[in-house]
Amino acid sequence: MTSIIGRNLLAGAEPDPAGDAGHGPDHPPRVGFFTDTSVCIGCKACEVACKEWNAVPEDGLELTGMSYDNTQGLGADSWRHVAFIEQDRPVRDPGGAGPQAGAAASGMRWLMASDVCKHCTHAACLDVCPTGALFRTEYGTVVVQEDVCNGCGYCVPACPYGVIDQRQDDGRVFKCTMCYDRLGAGQEPACAKACPTDSIQFGPLDELRERAAARLDRLHEDGVADARLYGDSPDDGVGGDGAFFLLLDDPEVYGLPPDPVVTTRDLPAMWRHAGAAAAALLGAAAAVFAAHGTIGKGGR
Ligand code: SF4
Ligand code: SF4
Repeated sequence: MTSIIGRNLLAGAEPDPAGDAGHGPDHPPRVGFFTDTSVCIGCKACEVACKEWNAVPEDGLELTGMSYDNTQGLGADSWRHVAFIEQDRPVRDPGGAGPQAGAAASGMRWLMASDVCKHCTHAACLDVCPTGALFRTEYGTVVVQEDVCNGCGYCVPACPYGVIDQRQDDGRVFKCTMCYDRLGAGQEPACAKACPTDSIQFGPLDELRERAAARLDRLHEDGVADARLYGDSPDDGVGGDGAFFLLLDDPEVYGLPPDPVVTTRDLPAMWRHAGAAAAALLGAAAAVFAAHGTIGKGGR
């Protein structure tokens, strides 16, 4: 087991988040989501299954008038969000290869992607929670306990992805739990179970990363040069995501930050600097008192 003494537990390499959170050596392997957006058809079965299983209330049922994306974003009452991105680009180059081969080229394409909490390796939401409402499960996922949350909202600006959100009525926060209750019963999360195209795949994170790398190679061989993985690397600014994606364009196109960094990364250095500054101030104050004492004695 890797020693945690002297390590910055808020950033950097983190091979065993559940172990470092106090779960014993026999904890189950870390699990996650691999969302392959290249096969998402935008049916929203994942959104519906999530709402139904987790009893998530309706989120306003607003029509944007701009897109089929009426959910608009993740929120306290939308734990899955299927983005519809309409682009003024052909589905494929005429005569080119790829998953759309055989389809007629047109001047427009839709990118669809089911977004969710990333269950970060370094989860700033969890790091800043003062009540312990957010915790790391034995599966390495991040879960919020609604009966412990006091509604302080510290976690909301801490999340580098803008995922976690407060309910308007009582201020408590809610987000995807990766169906923690279903995992305990040996079942996959409701969204992955409902997805008809296997765009959402669930399983041990190591296996998912291998599967994603193979899928990426296949797409590149087929000429889909823009395909890339997002959130899969343990070397990124959050130590890798427990929920990562295969995208067909830049992350910003999907509303994802291009280079997310755990917002608590620099806390240890900041505390060290604050401590050094406090020690210097105390030293200066002590020197002043000592000097005054000497002057007082000399002047008597
Ligand atoms: S995506 Fe945001 S809410 Fe989800 S685990 Fe990471 S920091 Fe927390
Ligand atoms: S269920 Fe699967 S195919 Fe349907 S919108 Fe969700 S991710 Fe896409």
